[in-house]
Amino acid sequence: MTKKTKRKHGLLVVVSGPSGVGKSTVVRRLLKLNKELRLSVSATTRPPRPGETHGEHYYFITQAEFDKKVKKHEFLEWAKVHGYYYGTLVDELKDQLAKGKVLVCEVDVQGAAALKQLVESGKMSAAAVFIFLIPPSVDILAFRLKKRKTEEEEVVNYRLRAAIAELQVMEKYDYIVVNDKVESAAEKIKAIINVEKERTLLN
Ligand code: 5GP
Repeated sequence: MTKKTKRKHGLLVVVSGPSGVGKSTVVRRLLKLNKELRLSVSATTRPPRPGETHGEHYYFITQAEFDKKVKKHEFLEWAKVHGYYYGTLVDELKDQLAKGKVLVCEVDVQGAAALKQLVESGKMSAAAVFIFLIPPSVDILAFRLKKRKTEEEEVVNYRLRAAIAELQVMEKYDYIVVNDKVESAAEKIKAIINVEKERTLLN
């Protein structure tokens, strides 16, 4: 492109997919591959897993704090996922998108549907791309969920059933990326972002 162009609005990159597909690992790799990307850190009532830190992986808050944020309309969307509450904070997105940044948001399928509605209705002024991450097979997904070892077997089976149901919505997404290897899935998403950045460049 020879003409100097300036982005009017940011680009929201929504990465979704079933539980255990490896969304957060792929997203973290993607952020290392492209330092320009910003991550939207969600709030959750789930307790931290070993190695997770407040403000980096999530804002770990109490149910009362979460309810207060819902009342004060501090979430763009929020959902109950596997017994805990998760929400995308308006503050995480608003300023970054207004500055024309590319913001990555990792949410479950309910969150992706809510964000899509906000973008399509014009309530959210940003270009957006919806990416669905799938496992190479259901067997591999089951293996990954079990390997995580942070949950009881009953929870793993429940999550697996939920994940299979979640796979049914994939045609609603703009892109489907197979998470065969973290590196290649992250590279594929990086390439999609480059294409979308060009396509949605507004001037
Ligand atoms: P985990 O507890 O394994 O980190 O996440 C459980 C699920 O919640 C994942 O599918 C993850 O993508 C989703 N999730 C994380 N943050 C948000 C959010 O802000 N909103 C919604 N709707 N889902 C989220």
